[in-house]
Amino acid sequence: MTIRQKQLCGLLGGHKIEYTENEPMSSHTTFRIGGAASVFAVPDTEDKLRLAVEACRIAETPYIVLGRGSNVLFDDSGYKGAVISTEKLTEITVSGNDITCGCGASFTQIAVIARDNSLSGLEFAYGIPGAVGGAVFMNAGAYGGEVSQVLLESTYYGPNDGKIHTINNAEHNYGYRESIYRDHPERVILSARFRLESADKNEIKQKMDGYMESRKAKQPLEYPSAGSVFKRCQGHFTGQMIEELGLKGFTVGGAQVSEKHAGFIINRGGATSADVLKLIDIIKEKVRDGYGLDLQCEVIHIK
Ligand SMILES: Cc1cc2nc3c(=O)[nH]c(=O)nc-3n(C[C@H](O)[C@H](O)[C@H](O)COP(=O)(O)OP(=O)(O)OC[C@H]3O[C@@H](n4cnc5c(N)ncnc54)[C@H](O)[C@@H]3O)c2cc1C
Repeated sequence: MTIRQKQLCGLLGGHKIEYTENEPMSSHTTFRIGGAASVFAVPDTEDKLRLAVEACRIAETPYIVLGRGSNVLFDDSGYKGAVISTEKLTEITVSGNDITCGCGASFTQIAVIARDNSLSGLEFAYGIPGAVGGAVFMNAGAYGGEVSQVLLESTYYGPNDGKIHTINNAEHNYGYRESIYRDHPERVILSARFRLESADKNEIKQKMDGYMESRKAKQPLEYPSAGSVFKRCQGHFTGQMIEELGLKGFTVGGAQVSEKHAGFIINRGGATSADVLKLIDIIKEKVRDGYGLDLQCEVIHIK
């Protein structure tokens, strides 16, 4: 254990923040890939989340905040720093047409709560396996909906000034899978408030059920993955391009281009980050040669 790591663990323990050392990231990501993080902290209050970040700053240890790990690829070499999980920050409250959620609340769960309260706008979130913080960070979206359409405001902790800030929708600078948080990864999203429309519960349910059926029919949900690996390309369906290049089923080690949806890379068992990265390179090269397009990764590689 390094001196800094020892200092960090001492600080976390002092704040009564649960943590483990050398925690395999394959256990905390939907890809089921990734080496060990030096420290894995699981604060159970917003205040402890802030204190965990402060502890990393004091111990000069790099950190990353992790939601459900459904849009990340941790490297086989692991992460030499602290991974701070939001999995215990799951509070959700409904007030009129607003739903306010802790950053670790399940994005699918808030769609269900919205439906049960006859609130429309979050139907698209049903089936996205992330947490609210990750969804706000990524501007997650599906079936024509995205976070930017329903987010009223989010609250974050800014370690640079040690303050808690609330920013409105416009201040998120949202674009396709882009947000202000992507430009400021040091900021820690604490919570988010969504403003929804009153609507008929059955209509909301029908929409959600339809989206879920479509996911089950089109996506390889039976295998570990991180969803669509690449961003959409203007005027092209990325999955279709990859399929047309004959890459469905193409395999490197344990990683495979899904036979069901060519935009997904799946872990067929024992895949390493090196397998996935090699497969990504091959796909990119073929798409460049075949279509003259440069694919951009949506999945975030963490090392
Ligand atoms: C089967 C499957 C289907 C999917 N379908 C969709 C889809 O339809 N649409 C879509 O947009 N995505 C989809 N995804 C991708 C993913 O679920 C979303 O991007 C989701 O919003 C990521 O949330 P997360 O909590 O898992 O984030 P993580 O993967 O844990 O983190 C993603 C990024 O957000 C940052 N982050 C997370 N929480 C915080 C926080 N509190 N403060 C600051 N930064 C934070 C992390 O540091 C990281 O950089 C799918 C994934 C899978 C596996």
